[in-house]
Amino acid sequence: MTLLKIDNLHTMVGETEILRGLSLEIGAGEVHAIMGPNGAGKSTLAYTLGGRPGYEVTAGSAMLDGEDLLAMDPHERAAAGLFLGFQYPVEIPGVSNVQFLREALNAQRKARGEEPLSGGDFLKLAREKAGLLQLDMDMLKRQVNVGFSGGEKKRAEMVHMGILDPKLAVLDETDSGLDIDALRVVGEGINTIMRKPDKAVLLITHYQRLLDIVQPDRVHILSKGRIVKSGGPELALELEREGYEAVAA
Ligand code: ADP
Ligand code: MG
Ligand code: MG
Repeated sequence: MTLLKIDNLHTMVGETEILRGLSLEIGAGEVHAIMGPNGAGKSTLAYTLGGRPGYEVTAGSAMLDGEDLLAMDPHERAAAGLFLGFQYPVEIPGVSNVQFLREALNAQRKARGEEPLSGGDFLKLAREKAGLLQLDMDMLKRQVNVGFSGGEKKRAEMVHMGILDPKLAVLDETDSGLDIDALRVVGEGINTIMRKPDKAVLLITHYQRLLDIVQPDRVHILSKGRIVKSGGPELALELEREGYEAVAA
Protein backbone atom coordinates (compact mmCIF):
# COMPACT_ATOMS: atom_id res chain seq x y z
CA MET A 1 0.00 0.00 0.00
CA THR A 2 1.28 3.47 -0.88
CA LEU A 3 1.63 5.83 2.06
CA LEU A 4 3.16 8.87 0.36
CA LYS A 5 2.60 9.64 -3.29
CA ILE A 6 4.23 12.73 -4.76
CA ASP A 7 3.54 13.39 -8.39
CA ASN A 8 5.19 15.98 -10.64
CA LEU A 9 5.69 18.44 -7.77
CA HIS A 10 6.80 21.96 -8.66
CA THR A 11 7.67 24.47 -5.92
CA MET A 12 8.62 28.10 -6.33
CA VAL A 13 10.62 29.94 -3.69
CA GLY A 14 10.37 33.62 -4.51
CA GLU A 15 10.96 33.93 -8.24
CA THR A 16 12.83 30.66 -8.57
CA GLU A 17 11.45 27.25 -9.34
CA ILE A 18 13.29 24.89 -6.98
CA LEU A 19 11.34 21.63 -7.28
CA ARG A 20 10.86 20.92 -10.95
CA GLY A 21 8.69 17.89 -11.43
CA LEU A 22 9.54 15.70 -8.47
CA SER A 23 7.79 12.35 -8.23
CA LEU A 24 8.22 9.84 -5.44
CA GLU A 25 6.20 7.00 -4.00
CA ILE A 26 6.80 5.44 -0.57
CA GLY A 27 5.00 2.31 0.49
CA ALA A 28 3.79 1.60 4.01
CA GLY A 29 6.53 -0.10 6.02
CA GLU A 30 9.31 1.43 3.94
CA VAL A 31 12.26 3.69 4.62
CA HIS A 32 13.48 5.80 1.71
CA ALA A 33 16.60 7.93 1.69
CA ILE A 34 17.07 11.06 -0.38
CA MET A 35 20.60 12.17 -1.08
CA GLY A 36 21.89 14.89 -3.32
CA PRO A 37 24.24 17.84 -3.61
CA ASN A 38 23.75 21.08 -1.68
CA GLY A 39 21.09 23.26 -3.25
CA ALA A 40 19.36 20.33 -4.98
CA GLY A 41 16.05 21.08 -3.24
CA LYS A 42 16.03 18.49 -0.46
CA SER A 43 15.02 20.91 2.28
CA THR A 44 12.58 22.56 -0.11
CA LEU A 45 10.87 19.19 -0.45
CA ALA A 46 10.61 18.84 3.34
CA TYR A 47 9.27 22.40 3.73
CA THR A 48 6.82 21.93 0.87
CA LEU A 49 5.42 18.78 2.47
CA GLY A 50 5.16 20.63 5.78
CA GLY A 51 3.38 23.61 4.23
CA ARG A 52 5.90 26.24 5.18
CA PRO A 53 4.89 29.76 4.09
CA GLY A 54 6.86 31.03 1.08
CA TYR A 55 7.06 27.61 -0.58
CA GLU A 56 4.52 27.93 -3.35
CA VAL A 57 3.37 24.80 -5.13
CA THR A 58 2.62 25.62 -8.76
CA ALA A 59 1.93 22.10 -10.04
CA GLY A 60 1.68 18.51 -8.94
CA SER A 61 0.30 16.67 -5.94
CA ALA A 62 1.34 15.10 -2.64
CA MET A 63 -0.96 12.56 -1.03
CA LEU A 64 -0.43 11.10 2.43
CA ASP A 65 -2.35 7.89 2.96
CA GLY A 66 -4.86 9.02 0.35
CA GLU A 67 -5.30 12.53 1.77
CA ASP A 68 -4.33 15.65 -0.16
CA LEU A 69 -1.53 17.17 1.92
CA LEU A 70 -1.27 20.30 -0.18
CA ALA A 71 -4.88 21.26 0.58
CA MET A 72 -4.20 21.29 4.32
CA ASP A 73 -2.81 23.84 6.78
CA PRO A 74 0.47 22.84 8.44
CA HIS A 75 -1.31 21.79 11.66
CA GLU A 76 -3.79 19.69 9.68
CA ARG A 77 -0.86 17.96 7.98
CA ALA A 78 0.55 17.08 11.38
CA ALA A 79 -2.84 15.78 12.49
CA ALA A 80 -3.00 13.71 9.30
CA GLY A 81 0.21 11.98 10.42
CA LEU A 82 3.15 14.01 9.11
CA PHE A 83 6.17 14.61 11.33
CA LEU A 84 9.08 16.82 10.25
CA GLY A 85 12.49 16.75 11.89
CA PHE A 86 15.28 19.18 11.13
CA GLN A 87 18.97 19.54 11.85
CA TYR A 88 18.51 22.26 14.44
CA PRO A 89 15.57 21.64 16.79
CA VAL A 90 14.06 24.88 18.11
CA GLU A 91 14.40 25.93 21.74
CA ILE A 92 11.20 26.99 23.50
CA PRO A 93 12.15 28.84 26.70
CA GLY A 94 9.52 28.74 29.43
CA VAL A 95 7.71 25.68 28.04
CA SER A 96 8.51 22.16 29.22
CA ASN A 97 8.63 19.19 26.88
CA VAL A 98 5.69 17.71 28.75
CA GLN A 99 3.54 20.84 28.31
CA PHE A 100 4.56 21.27 24.69
CA LEU A 101 3.93 17.67 23.75
CA ARG A 102 0.63 17.36 25.54
CA GLU A 103 -0.65 20.46 23.76
CA ALA A 104 0.67 19.32 20.40
CA LEU A 105 -0.78 15.84 20.81
CA ASN A 106 -4.14 17.08 22.01
CA ALA A 107 -4.35 19.62 19.18
CA GLN A 108 -3.76 16.78 16.73
CA ARG A 109 -6.32 14.57 18.47
CA LYS A 110 -8.86 17.38 18.37
CA ALA A 111 -8.27 17.90 14.64
CA ARG A 112 -8.96 14.18 14.17
CA GLY A 113 -12.13 14.37 16.25
CA GLU A 114 -10.60 12.41 19.16
CA GLU A 115 -10.89 13.14 22.87
CA PRO A 116 -7.93 14.92 24.50
CA LEU A 117 -5.66 12.87 26.77
CA SER A 118 -5.87 13.75 30.46
CA GLY A 119 -2.72 14.85 32.26
CA GLY A 120 -2.38 11.43 33.87
CA ASP A 121 -2.87 9.47 30.66
CA PHE A 122 -0.46 11.74 28.86
CA LEU A 123 2.24 11.22 31.48
CA LYS A 124 1.76 7.48 31.22
CA LEU A 125 2.25 7.65 27.46
CA ALA A 126 5.26 9.98 27.82
CA ARG A 127 6.84 7.65 30.37
CA GLU A 128 6.34 4.65 28.11
CA LYS A 129 7.93 6.39 25.07
CA ALA A 130 10.77 7.89 27.11
CA GLY A 131 11.50 4.43 28.50
CA LEU A 132 11.56 2.94 25.03
CA LEU A 133 14.23 5.48 24.05
CA GLN A 134 16.04 5.41 27.39
CA LEU A 135 15.41 9.08 28.08
CA ASP A 136 15.12 10.17 31.68
CA MET A 137 11.63 11.57 32.44
CA ASP A 138 13.34 14.47 34.22
CA MET A 139 14.58 15.64 30.82
CA LEU A 140 11.01 15.83 29.57
CA LYS A 141 10.15 18.13 32.46
CA ARG A 142 12.82 20.59 31.37
CA GLN A 143 12.19 23.43 28.90
CA VAL A 144 12.13 22.34 25.27
CA ASN A 145 15.73 21.98 24.12
CA VAL A 146 16.98 24.80 26.38
CA GLY A 147 20.50 23.90 27.49
CA PHE A 148 20.26 20.43 25.92
CA SER A 149 23.38 18.94 24.37
CA GLY A 150 23.18 17.92 20.71
CA GLY A 151 22.59 14.32 21.75
CA GLU A 152 19.90 15.25 24.27
CA LYS A 153 18.05 17.31 21.67
CA LYS A 154 18.02 14.36 19.34
CA ARG A 155 16.87 11.97 22.03
CA ALA A 156 14.08 14.41 22.94
CA GLU A 157 13.15 14.74 19.27
CA MET A 158 12.79 10.97 19.04
CA VAL A 159 10.52 11.00 22.10
CA HIS A 160 8.45 13.73 20.45
CA MET A 161 8.15 11.53 17.39
CA GLY A 162 7.21 8.54 19.54
CA ILE A 163 4.49 10.43 21.36
CA LEU A 164 3.01 12.08 18.27
CA ASP A 165 3.09 8.67 16.54
CA PRO A 166 3.11 9.91 12.92
CA LYS A 167 2.39 7.87 9.81
CA LEU A 168 5.26 9.52 7.94
CA ALA A 169 8.44 11.06 9.33
CA VAL A 170 10.45 13.34 7.06
CA LEU A 171 13.84 13.87 8.66
CA ASP A 172 15.98 16.53 6.99
CA GLU A 173 19.67 16.07 7.81
CA THR A 174 18.67 15.41 11.38
CA ASP A 175 21.91 13.39 11.66
CA SER A 176 24.25 16.21 10.62
CA GLY A 177 26.89 17.17 13.14
CA LEU A 178 26.10 14.34 15.56
CA ASP A 179 28.72 12.30 17.32
CA ILE A 180 28.58 8.51 17.12
CA ASP A 181 26.47 8.09 20.27
CA ALA A 182 23.90 10.68 19.24
CA LEU A 183 23.78 9.17 15.78
CA ARG A 184 22.98 5.80 17.30
CA VAL A 185 20.18 7.38 19.36
CA VAL A 186 18.62 8.84 16.23
CA GLY A 187 19.07 5.70 14.16
CA GLU A 188 17.74 3.35 16.79
CA GLY A 189 14.96 5.81 17.63
CA ILE A 190 13.83 5.78 14.02
CA ASN A 191 13.94 1.99 13.94
CA THR A 192 12.08 1.62 17.24
CA ILE A 193 9.33 4.12 16.49
CA MET A 194 8.92 4.11 12.75
CA ARG A 195 9.88 0.65 11.49
CA LYS A 196 6.25 -0.50 11.48
CA PRO A 197 4.10 -1.97 8.72
CA ASP A 198 1.78 1.06 8.71
CA LYS A 199 4.45 3.79 8.84
CA ALA A 200 7.11 5.19 6.55
CA VAL A 201 10.22 7.35 6.74
CA LEU A 202 11.82 9.76 4.31
CA LEU A 203 15.41 10.29 5.42
CA ILE A 204 17.29 13.18 3.89
CA THR A 205 20.95 12.61 4.60
CA HIS A 206 24.46 12.97 3.25
CA TYR A 207 25.86 10.16 5.32
CA GLN A 208 26.05 6.44 4.93
CA ARG A 209 26.70 6.12 8.67
CA LEU A 210 23.00 6.76 9.45
CA LEU A 211 21.97 4.37 6.69
CA ASP A 212 24.12 1.68 8.32
CA ILE A 213 21.74 1.85 11.29
CA VAL A 214 18.48 2.63 9.49
CA GLN A 215 18.71 0.52 6.39
CA PRO A 216 16.76 2.12 3.55
CA ASP A 217 14.57 0.11 1.22
CA ARG A 218 15.14 2.66 -1.55
CA VAL A 219 17.67 5.41 -2.15
CA HIS A 220 16.98 8.38 -4.43
CA ILE A 221 19.29 11.04 -5.76
CA LEU A 222 17.80 14.51 -6.02
CA SER A 223 19.44 16.94 -8.37
CA LYS A 224 18.16 20.30 -9.60
CA GLY A 225 14.70 19.71 -8.23
CA ARG A 226 14.07 16.23 -9.59
CA ILE A 227 14.80 12.63 -8.68
CA VAL A 228 17.45 11.69 -11.21
CA LYS A 229 18.27 8.18 -10.02
CA SER A 230 16.75 5.59 -7.70
CA GLY A 231 18.04 2.29 -6.46
CA GLY A 232 18.49 0.02 -3.49
CA PRO A 233 20.77 0.59 -0.50
CA GLU A 234 23.82 -0.04 -2.71
CA LEU A 235 23.20 3.32 -4.42
CA ALA A 236 24.15 5.14 -1.20
CA LEU A 237 27.40 3.17 -1.00
CA GLU A 238 28.15 3.91 -4.62
CA LEU A 239 27.55 7.63 -3.95
CA GLU A 240 29.88 7.58 -0.99
CA ARG A 241 32.60 5.94 -3.08
CA GLU A 242 32.22 7.92 -6.26
CA GLY A 243 30.40 11.19 -5.49
CA TYR A 244 27.27 12.71 -6.94
CA GLU A 245 28.83 13.83 -10.19
CA ALA A 246 29.97 10.38 -11.19
CA VAL A 247 26.78 8.59 -10.12
CA ALA A 248 24.10 11.02 -11.18
CA ALA A 249 25.65 12.59 -14.25
P1 ADP B 1 19.24 21.38 -0.21
O1 ADP B 1 18.46 21.15 1.04
O2 ADP B 1 19.18 20.24 -1.17
O3 ADP B 1 20.65 21.78 0.07
P2 ADP B 1 17.47 23.64 -0.52
O4 ADP B 1 16.12 23.05 -0.72
O5 ADP B 1 17.81 24.18 0.81
O6 ADP B 1 18.57 22.58 -1.00
O7 ADP B 1 17.69 24.82 -1.57
C1 ADP B 1 17.45 24.65 -2.96
C2 ADP B 1 17.70 25.95 -3.67
O8 ADP B 1 16.73 26.89 -3.25
C3 ADP B 1 19.03 26.59 -3.36
O9 ADP B 1 19.53 27.15 -4.55
C4 ADP B 1 18.70 27.66 -2.36
O10 ADP B 1 19.59 28.73 -2.43
C5 ADP B 1 17.31 28.05 -2.75
N1 ADP B 1 16.49 28.47 -1.61
C6 ADP B 1 16.10 27.70 -0.58
N2 ADP B 1 15.36 28.38 0.30
C7 ADP B 1 15.29 29.63 -0.18
C8 ADP B 1 14.67 30.85 0.26
N3 ADP B 1 13.97 30.88 1.41
N4 ADP B 1 14.81 31.94 -0.52
C9 ADP B 1 15.50 31.90 -1.66
N5 ADP B 1 16.12 30.79 -2.14
C10 ADP B 1 16.01 29.69 -1.42
MG1 MG C 1 21.43 22.76 1.94
MG1 MG D 1 18.90 21.12 3.01
